Amino acid sequence: MPAASSRPQPRPGVLDIEAYVPGKSTAEGVEKIYKLSSNETPLGPSPKAVEAFKAAVEGLEFYPDGLSTKLREAIAAKHGLDADHLICGSGSDELLSLLANAYIGPGDEGVMSEYGFVVYPIAIRAAGGKPVIAKERDFQTDVDALLKAVTPRTKVVFLANPNNPTGTYIPFSEVKRLHAGLPAHVLLVLDAAYAEYVRRNDYASGLELVSTSENVVMTRTFSKIFGLANLRIGWLYGPAHVVDALNRIRSAFNVNGAAIAAGAAAIADDAHIAAALAHNDRWLAWLTSKISALGLSVTPSVGNFLLIHFPTERGKTAREADAYLARHGLILRSLGAYNLPNALRLTIGSEEANRKVVSTLESFLSGAAPARG
Ligand SMILES: *Cc1c(COP(=O)(O)O)cnc(C)c1O
Repeated sequence: MPAASSRPQPRPGVLDIEAYVPGKSTAEGVEKIYKLSSNETPLGPSPKAVEAFKAAVEGLEFYPDGLSTKLREAIAAKHGLDADHLICGSGSDELLSLLANAYIGPGDEGVMSEYGFVVYPIAIRAAGGKPVIAKERDFQTDVDALLKAVTPRTKVVFLANPNNPTGTYIPFSEVKRLHAGLPAHVLLVLDAAYAEYVRRNDYASGLELVSTSENVVMTRTFSKIFGLANLRIGWLYGPAHVVDALNRIRSAFNVNGAAIAAGAAAIADDAHIAAALAHNDRWLAWLTSKISALGLSVTPSVGNFLLIHFPTERGKTAREADAYLARHGLILRSLGAYNLPNALRLTIGSEEANRKVVSTLESFLSGAAPARG
């Protein structure tokens, strides 16, 4: 092996990054798999999006529209926004990275919540910055802790609202209080990946705050309620000066033509979105109540997933539950990367999957009772 100095070296910090580990999608020796590990919708995409995707097979030799015009116009029409204040990305992950790369440099800090989305520390470190973590209370973002974590080196605050993997949210009044407490040069990133699912009167995704501020952006995704995770489509709404900065550093054709066409069709299909929401309303409540009734603690969620806490008692741990569920074809998300080793995250699935989760958890908990001595 040649000495390390004789070969190319990544920038300082790159090798400190823990690479993102996606939710599992297989279990050995099991015929039927229910993937409940990545918050994908059990309803799949709108049939209109599928049709648009298929039609995109014509013209594969041509570069896509580098400005994602049709998609931005469809998003603008749906939400009543100015398309010039929108930028699309290869998933909102790309937009989060672009934000970090544009606003964070070596020595700078990015603030996030204790159980905030794991993509944030990756994006902050990849840009050469340092993630600064604010403690949560009861798995909920603590605005005072976030504000206390801000220093003169802070460039960006990342807030997932609702948050993944906790499923909790903070009311819009708290988001506004956070914004009011930030210095004007700090960029507040509102990641509203699950906004469509939230049924709370005191919640808002943040469109209004973006419209009236120079230092707030909102990111959204087609990966969750729209059922297009595979196509990688996200969008950002922000002030013109931020959109301009991101447009300068993104790759020229960052969203492919099939994604542009399918995304534009998906966001216009109100009936499909309503069906996905109705399914989630029903089964989120059902799973929360059934799993709680088994004696497990469930963090109240407003998203399309649940954080389930397991006892540390041998035979009943999250790790053992994960293995047991996987043997029955149920793939959940283990949360070691989030420092939540005693919890699993469950995506709301089809009726069949949801019922199977509850019956399998029930047999796991009863079968795994510790032997009496
Ligand atoms: C799933 C998710 C996203 C979406 O990521 P994409 O890159 O758009 O697929 C963004 N933020 C959070 C908090 C998420 O859970």
